[in-house]
Amino acid sequence: MLAPPLQRLVTELARLPGIGQRTAQRLAFHILRASPEEAGALADAIRDVKERIGLCELCFNLAEGPRCTICADERRDTTLICVVEEPGDVIPVERTHEYRGRYHVLGGALSPIDGVEPEDLKIAELYARVTDPRPGDPAVREVVLATNPTTTGEATALHIADGLRGRAPDVAVTRLASGLPVGGDLEYADEVTLGRALAGRRAL
Ligand SMILES: [Zn+2]
Repeated sequence: MLAPPLQRLVTELARLPGIGQRTAQRLAFHILRASPEEAGALADAIRDVKERIGLCELCFNLAEGPRCTICADERRDTTLICVVEEPGDVIPVERTHEYRGRYHVLGGALSPIDGVEPEDLKIAELYARVTDPRPGDPAVREVVLATNPTTTGEATALHIADGLRGRAPDVAVTRLASGLPVGGDLEYADEVTLGRALAGRRAL
């Protein structure tokens, strides 16, 4: 029913998470009505983010250039590493203002059922950061496992805690305290709850 270029835009928009057919249509018509500058700015922003944003070489957070802003910040405590599943999980932890260390982004959580094995995540890279700090960096003294309080997040935390115990017995391994909604996503936790969970983290 729609002209092919418009249908193509609807199809692409409908692929986005949380966007159904009807919303995709509404957005497509909005873009069609927008000025060429406005629509062009959206297209440019999408192209730009794909071209310019990559992963930090150290922590695998999103970065423009080789290092993310957190790893490039010399005031951060390099003896502390907070492990999260996705780049989006760094933001809520930062919002708490309770944490001054660095991060390590795994790129997901272990889930054998979905075929996600340790090799598919940045786990070996984490072990390397802990056991073999870069020249000039002090030894890591604590790893905070801030994976989601879900089945896969818990399994991932236990797997890493186990791996670290064998490789770096002197490094403290902690997990966020309870108070986080079970089965929830870090991304959706409010900063007070998450700040408290971070302050009350416990040894694993
Ligand atoms: Zn980084």
